[in-house]
Amino acid sequence: MGEHSSSGTLYIVSTPIGNLEDITFRAIDILSRVDLIAAEDTRKTKILLDHYQIRKALVSYFSYNEARRTPELIAKLKSGLSIALVSDAGTPGISDPAFRIIRAALDENISVVSIPGPTAFLPALIVSGLPADRFVFEGFLPVKKGRKTKLEQLRNEDRTMILYESPHRLLRTLNDLLEFLGDREISVSRELTKHFEEVIRGRISSVLSFFSQKSIRGEFVLVVRGLSSTNSFVDDVGS
Ligand code: SAM
Repeated sequence: MGEHSSSGTLYIVSTPIGNLEDITFRAIDILSRVDLIAAEDTRKTKILLDHYQIRKALVSYFSYNEARRTPELIAKLKSGLSIALVSDAGTPGISDPAFRIIRAALDENISVVSIPGPTAFLPALIVSGLPADRFVFEGFLPVKKGRKTKLEQLRNEDRTMILYESPHRLLRTLNDLLEFLGDREISVSRELTKHFEEVIRGRISSVLSFFSQKSIRGEFVLVVRGLSSTNSFVDDVGS
């Protein structure tokens, strides 16, 4: 289908997940050239832009205003302006707002271009030592409704599973994984690309007791072995 030649382009731009150097030349070029940047957290994005000496108009686009903001941004795109969408960290659309505006832009035949770059789940999968040939990304587990059903589904999942988790729910999630999936192998990546980056690999029970003994800070990606895969595994915390 043809595109509105007079419309601007919506760029979905991946930004660092910690280390400000993790950004592509192309991302910097696009952020410098667009008319407007729509950012999940304008203050956070300003730090990135200042680091690269990019001065650009910023508008917020986050979960609580995306319904209202989307038509406004679509109108700007239709008038010929080009817009870059960035999230707090990593790739917009991966556990971050973007889907709504991407759909709306496509419905209006506006060109949507991805500027690929960092996302937290891929480096966590790669360093986990678990099979990466087939995997499933689940994002955050439901907090209340649907949590038990999801965990019961995951029990029979034979691909490597990737989950995001916040520090205050890490222990609860490790406990639930142990209860529903059994004492599988797991890899927990903390603070990827940042100063206190670490990866803890082992059985769920030993990783759980490791984290139970310390105060939990930072951001976490959990990578869990699927049901039937049986490769050997590195154990950082087991006996
Ligand atoms: N859009 C992001 C991406 O592409 O990965 C994800 C955003 S989501 C709101 C935030 C979650 O991503 C965190 O709770 C954590 O699970 C994961 N995450 C983001 N940055 C991380 C990092 N540096 N180290 C470990 N996990 C990270």
